[in-house]
Amino acid sequence: MGYQAAENRYQSMKYRRTGKSGLLLPEISLGLWHNFGDKDSMATQKAILRKAFDLGVTHFDLANNYGPSAGSAERNFGVHFARDFQPYRDELIISTKAGYDMWAGPYGEWGSRKYLLASLDQSLSRMGLDYVDIFYSHRYDPNTPLEETMGALATAVHSGRALYAGVSNYDAQQTREAKRILEAKGVPLLIHQPRYSMFDRAPEASLFDTIGIEGIGSIVYSPLAQGLLTNRYLSGAVPKNSRAAKNHFLKPTQISEEYRQHANALNEIAAKRGQTLSQLALSWVLRQPTVTSALIGASSVKQLEQNLATVSSPKLSIEELREIEPHAIHGLAI
Ligand code: NDP
Repeated sequence: MGYQAAENRYQSMKYRRTGKSGLLLPEISLGLWHNFGDKDSMATQKAILRKAFDLGVTHFDLANNYGPSAGSAERNFGVHFARDFQPYRDELIISTKAGYDMWAGPYGEWGSRKYLLASLDQSLSRMGLDYVDIFYSHRYDPNTPLEETMGALATAVHSGRALYAGVSNYDAQQTREAKRILEAKGVPLLIHQPRYSMFDRAPEASLFDTIGIEGIGSIVYSPLAQGLLTNRYLSGAVPKNSRAAKNHFLKPTQISEEYRQHANALNEIAAKRGQTLSQLALSWVLRQPTVTSALIGASSVKQLEQNLATVSSPKLSIEELREIEPHAIHGLAI
């Protein structure tokens, strides 16, 4: 049965301006780092993507290496795109990145012009796209002149393979420098993608100030701390099929007694607001004026729907923020 997007898909989602650009992003975007690889059910992937778009999620975030295996998330996305989303291309913001280990030899990672442009061409071919909306340098390369890395992003934009340029995992100083170099090449730095959640507050030190001053947008990844800020592990048990059970990027040892105490305290604050813990965690990152979008993952339609319902939650009050503060501990469990 062919996919017809819901007619009311723009009714509930809210959109924020990405820095000082013309681009609006949904308050919650969907990332395909996990749950879209070789071993993940195509039927579940399809259902998650369709539901996301039906609920106003116009932004899907990928990278060359998402899977596993590396490249498989882009390949699978290409299948879903060709079947379901082609007619909606102009309603979608699709991003990809290059920076981490992708292929053998000296040209398969980091920030050289050689790697970035070859990787972007591979990504476009895997996804069956003529262009991506945002192309990111996935990490700062200390051994390649930033001029070269940004030059590759500028070429991506000037050649029409990408509409906008972004950086991910750059610190404040690197971000300022990246913006300056890109601007000299006639390309604005649209967006930064840092990790940010109640358990990783690093961007509060100086990155958020920098991107605010520079007029750059931000899309914050792992806002649920990979599931730690959901009801998944509140009892201390590690459910089968959870990310921690896979013991890859999230490990069962992270489900400590200290974690449990703070997560349960946060869960009680959420319940008083009529929210789940995941919804509280998303409301919390979205309270930051410099955050354009919270970039979540989901392994089921149910999780996705629960998370997207956050956009209609009331804002956190000063009193609630005070209550959250002793439990929003940088470095806890991650
Ligand atoms: P989250 O912190 O949102 O974690 C998502 C995971 O949490 C889900 O896969 C699921 O895990 C669990 N979960 C989500 N919602 C619920 C819920 N309502 N109830 C219970 N469990 C829930 O984000 P990710 O770590 O997945 O990262 C999101 C995106 O950010 C990535 O897909 C990618 O696009 C981007 N990213 C970027 C990076 C970068 O370097 N630029 C690095 C990492 C991510 P489970 O499998 O247990 O069900």
